[in-house]
Amino acid sequence: MNNYDESARRVPVSYEVDVVVAGGGATGVAAAIGAARAGLRVMLIENYGFCGGMATAGMSGTICGLFTSAKSGKIRQLVYGFADEFYRGLQRRGGVSDPFPFGDTALVVHDPQVWKEVADDMLAEAGVMILYHSRVVGVVREGRTVQGVLVENKNGRHAIMAKRVVDATGDGDVCMWAGAPFSFGKNGAVQYATMVFRMNHVDVAKALGHDRHRLEAWIDEAERAGYDLPRKHIYLLPSPRPGEVMCNVTRITKPNGEPIDATKAEDLTIGEQRGRKQVREYERFLRRYVPGFESAMLNDVAPQLGIRQSRTIAGEATLTNDDVFQARKSAHAVASSAWCIEAHGRDGIFMFYLDNDYYDIPYETLIPRQVENVITAGRTLSAEHEALASARVTAQCFLTGYAAGVASGLSLRHQVGYDRVDAAELKELLHVFG
Ligand SMILES: Cc1cc2nc3c(=O)[nH]c(=O)nc-3n(C[C@H](O)[C@H](O)[C@H](O)COP(=O)(O)OP(=O)(O)OC[C@H]3O[C@@H](n4cnc5c(N)ncnc54)[C@H](O)[C@@H]3O)c2cc1C
Repeated sequence: MNNYDESARRVPVSYEVDVVVAGGGATGVAAAIGAARAGLRVMLIENYGFCGGMATAGMSGTICGLFTSAKSGKIRQLVYGFADEFYRGLQRRGGVSDPFPFGDTALVVHDPQVWKEVADDMLAEAGVMILYHSRVVGVVREGRTVQGVLVENKNGRHAIMAKRVVDATGDGDVCMWAGAPFSFGKNGAVQYATMVFRMNHVDVAKALGHDRHRLEAWIDEAERAGYDLPRKHIYLLPSPRPGEVMCNVTRITKPNGEPIDATKAEDLTIGEQRGRKQVREYERFLRRYVPGFESAMLNDVAPQLGIRQSRTIAGEATLTNDDVFQARKSAHAVASSAWCIEAHGRDGIFMFYLDNDYYDIPYETLIPRQVENVITAGRTLSAEHEALASARVTAQCFLTGYAAGVASGLSLRHQVGYDRVDAAELKELLHVFG
């Protein structure tokens, strides 16, 4: 590839703050609020005109990771803290369903519009400054030490100086520009993407009454009749809106079957186009084969392709697959989870449930190696592939994001780097178990 030498340029410094949070998904919203509640001046920078990331733009649909998991017996809420605060905020506005069974556990389905509103209000209440329609495009740094971020928006290109930066981009953009090491999935293969959509005018009771094997048999039958339905294990979930079903059913890859690399615009473009086509194919299938969907209509399609995984940052500690399989606890826990491993890969969806147990996510998995003043959380935290396929869900993004924000406060109060924050003091402030 040829290179073009862009001339060095001076950019204005538009803000000087304590903490910049790059990205306003579940992780970034929680981080910004956690930092602002510590009395810091916080700026959240988000590419879209609303918060939520995969939960709203990707219409992921539900909050997973709130509840216990058990082969038999009662399911109860496991984690509280910021995850519970947001859940209650949705509940107060009628924007979330009752707990709905999912394998050996449960989830709650949220309305993406209400999600955005709850985030706006909670951020305003905490005093977070927000720049929507703004993209972080680089970092200001001296050696390993990050001093701010470069942002582009309608105002042009400018710098925002910050004492600490939370990378909540979901793709580890800030960590990558700062020079932190990272990896991609299992031997370079990340989880498959999904284009989520909602159908309305559904007979919900009937449509959700079919078991997984029945649905798979109908998919096989449709494929024999010429339909192109690459995913067999599909999720149909009741939206909080009457007559509406959230459809997490597609499996979007490149034409050669390789996963979409969300750090490449070319892959994202092809993924969006193939996603829209596949949504229509599953819509046709649901209406023709699945009782309850006979009169259903495509209500809306997620504004962006749902990306489960891209860069995984190499942290001071790594959540291992064994930590999840063995339900390991940690004295440095910033989050806990009983959510299953749910890895969308070439051979279908690998599922593993804990039975009446949970694992902890240690603080050190949020601290990127080889850089100063930067922390990450959510779906970029340091974890092995299958472990991340559990830890990446929304409740744990809320919890780890909030921990990153609170850790920013402790780091500035005690004038130490993230790696010297007292994890026991941090844990006390998070109230993960209520
Ligand atoms: C198809 C799909 C279905 C899922 N289903 C569920 C489910 O049912 N339940 C559940 O709990 N979880 C589900 N998940 C997982 C969950 O939604 C995500 O893991 C979680 O939302 C990740 O949150 P995050 O904030 O870490 O990242 P993201 O949600 O990806 O948020 C990142 C944010 O940063 C912004 N951003 C990125 N780069 C920049 C930049 N350079 N500058 C400025 N802004 C930037 C993005 O616009 C986005 O808003 C699903 C995920 C997918 C993809």
